[in-house]
Amino acid sequence: MAAASPQTVTAETGAFDAEACVIGAGPSGLAAAKALVDRDIKFDWFEKGSMVGGLWRIDNDNGGAAAYETLHLNSSRPLTQYPSYPMPEGWPDYPSHRLMARYFQDFAEHFGLTERVSFNTPVTHVEPLLGPGRPGACGWAVTTEQGRRCYRYLFVCNGHHSEPRIPDFPGEFTGTSFHAHEYMDPTVFEGKDVLVIGVGNSGMDIACDAARIADRVLLATRHGVHVLPKYAFGRPIDQFGSPLNAYLPFAVERKLYELVLRLSTGRPEDRGLPKPDHRLLSAHPTVSSDLYDRVGHGDIVMKPNIARLDGDSVHFVDGTSEHVDVLVYATGYRVSLPFFDKELYDPAGNAMPLYERVLTPKLPGVFFIGFIQTVGSNIPLMELQSEWAGDLITGAAVLPGEAEMDEWIAADQATMARRYVRSERHTMQVDFWRYARALKQCRRRTTQKPTGLAGHLPRALAGLHR
Ligand SMILES: Cc1cc2nc3c(=O)[nH]c(=O)nc-3n(C[C@H](O)[C@H](O)[C@H](O)COP(=O)(O)OP(=O)(O)OC[C@H]3O[C@@H](n4cnc5c(N)ncnc54)[C@H](O)[C@@H]3O)c2cc1C
Repeated sequence: MAAASPQTVTAETGAFDAEACVIGAGPSGLAAAKALVDRDIKFDWFEKGSMVGGLWRIDNDNGGAAAYETLHLNSSRPLTQYPSYPMPEGWPDYPSHRLMARYFQDFAEHFGLTERVSFNTPVTHVEPLLGPGRPGACGWAVTTEQGRRCYRYLFVCNGHHSEPRIPDFPGEFTGTSFHAHEYMDPTVFEGKDVLVIGVGNSGMDIACDAARIADRVLLATRHGVHVLPKYAFGRPIDQFGSPLNAYLPFAVERKLYELVLRLSTGRPEDRGLPKPDHRLLSAHPTVSSDLYDRVGHGDIVMKPNIARLDGDSVHFVDGTSEHVDVLVYATGYRVSLPFFDKELYDPAGNAMPLYERVLTPKLPGVFFIGFIQTVGSNIPLMELQSEWAGDLITGAAVLPGEAEMDEWIAADQATMARRYVRSERHTMQVDFWRYARALKQCRRRTTQKPTGLAGHLPRALAGLHR
């Protein structure tokens, strides 16, 4: 592949290596690639590892596999599949990571995507091309070991579950410790005293796995948590929602979910868990059908936050202390975009203020796909995001002006700050049905006059702002 010099590439000469570049071939990269293929837009596609499917491939050689042997979807099948490619009817409601890996492989083969990926090709650097206007207004140069190539558009699809976040507790722990990211199967817990820190989905799964085989399992939480069972009244719980939710005021939607939960499982504090310090949907809830039983059986003991580590003991903020052999940090992830220079784009604290959670006027032509989190699945939303981005490239949809986008971003950030417990965990939350509707509306925006950002863009990017 010939390396291009970014200085020679301008919107006017049109000397790009391809129209677009996709970074990553996980679920979001697959959705982006399909949207580009559907529109006949030429693109390069780089993937660090040697397979598609991202974190769902337990055998991924990209160093980023987050799957473990007991992992199943926590969102149900019909709400997790890409709208364009349903999973087989006979599959279970909550398929395993192995079925999910097969699904992504099948998706790639069905749409002729597999042969388009350059595997084992990590993107190491992305920089804006020189030219008039703001950084990137002329396009983007992407560096891999194959060289440096230039594009008008960039799809950032490298996921947000690759860099484990480990809190810095005072003291030192001398037993075995690891982040949930490294967890593979429960054999490591056999006959041990185990402490899992964090009550997100991975933390719950790992604590429940450990409870079958460990001597003792402790599960520590700072804020408490609302636990959604996988089923309520005989149905997958996420199937209580419907497109109509998008039209409900949030307060009404929350009341409905609280009612379903109260009637189906009761309150956390009635089931041996601490009372959450927030209402349902003010923090990302956890989906587990197993936890309440495990706590009810005494196989998992709840603990508050950690005060300090002390050799093979852990002290908690309630003054108690416990012996621990294995400590698991199920404490989440940091967004990592190492190929951008920090001065250009830095998602410090997981903050990613983006218009409709996909783009920023600061980086024209860059689309962030999959940097969202929802109750339900983000996989269908990745496809909707990609369809919208594809429409913006072809000019089938247009953006509002920069001032309007900035206003939207500021209002969105303020709403999130009001609604969610302040934490790096809640910087990407979207309400599934509301967000799906918003993206569909974005795709229908075709007539807005260009203002703001459009004025700064060269003709090459005019499709974004027709
Ligand atoms: C344990 C766990 C359980 C989950 N369960 C669910 C669930 O039940 N339902 C749901 O909807 N979501 C779930 N999620 C959310 C998850 O984020 C998505 O399902 C999905 O895997 C994210 O896809 P992605 O493509 O954005 O990221 P990833 O799956 O992480 O894929 C990113 C890809 O980009 C590649 N890449 C990274 N950096 C580079 C680079 N520099 N150059 C080239 N390639 C690069 C990686 O190798 C990888 O293949 C879960 C997440 C975790 C961690």
